[in-house]
Amino acid sequence: MKKQVTTLITAVLFGVFAYVGTASAEQQFISIGTGGVTGVYYPTGGAICRLVNKNRKEHGIRCSAESTGGSIYNINTIRSGELEFGVAQSDWQYHAFHGTSKFEDQGAFENLRAVFSVHPEPVTVIASDASGINTLTDAKGKRLNIGNPGSGTRGTWEVIEAALGWERSDLKLAAEMKSAETGQAVCDGKIDAYFWLVGHPSALTQESLATCDAHLVNVEGDAINKLVADNSYYRTATIPAGMYNNESDIATFGVGATFVSSADVPDEVVYTVVKAVFENFEDFKKLHPAFANLSETEMIRDSLSAPLHAGAEKYYKERGWL
Ligand code: GLU
Repeated sequence: MKKQVTTLITAVLFGVFAYVGTASAEQQFISIGTGGVTGVYYPTGGAICRLVNKNRKEHGIRCSAESTGGSIYNINTIRSGELEFGVAQSDWQYHAFHGTSKFEDQGAFENLRAVFSVHPEPVTVIASDASGINTLTDAKGKRLNIGNPGSGTRGTWEVIEAALGWERSDLKLAAEMKSAETGQAVCDGKIDAYFWLVGHPSALTQESLATCDAHLVNVEGDAINKLVADNSYYRTATIPAGMYNNESDIATFGVGATFVSSADVPDEVVYTVVKAVFENFEDFKKLHPAFANLSETEMIRDSLSAPLHAGAEKYYKERGWL
């Protein structure tokens, strides 16, 4: 009897050590760079991680979503190897991969890899009713938040500014607040308007339009038409009537939010992440209202200019999508 008990204890202890040994050897951490907490990138990273972490015991990957400065920060941080994944605007994915625009000095990020695209991100301008801003060009001479350095928003503002032929001094104030701070600043009259590229509906836009005397602004005209005509990663977009406090459609243009990684991230890791999303796709779409109209076909095809990551490609081929 005594011998049996000892054997049992030994077996149990051995089992526990073996388990701990395996778990720590196989545990892998991945981080997703997102954006401000009241945007859509942050809940996007959270949604992806939630589905990955659901099966953590099987694959050993622990996923966490980090709030960051946005698209350009995320791409640069993936490049330096500090983040495995990030959410980024399709225009900045394009420029990073090709080494153009803001990425000209650093050169092409050839190892940048597309995983899938997510929601559309229209250029969105929220102006206080007192500002007199009704279309983007009315912002000349006014106090506008143009986005924090590192955000895709800020990068795209600089492209629009050049397209309009404006200098920075054409704004009375070019504020550089992070998205999470801008709503309060419009409500308090510290700025006249804020500009950002974001999915809809988004918490910050909703909060500003529901709690301040503020409205959405059209972003259109010859300069914008030319930008859309000349660049494949831009398209015209509409924020539909009634989405917020807007009685009519808001005409604008925009990009797509995309999920990106690096060729240095192992194929099995990327495979596990895309599998978690697409095997729970109906659940994924319910995790944010901006995901309501997503389709698998569009997500693996549209707005992607870097090559697909091999781990993602493997999964899409298995599903017969490629
Ligand atoms: N598109 C924005 C950026 O890269 C972030 C939007 C969001 O946080 O949802 O700056």
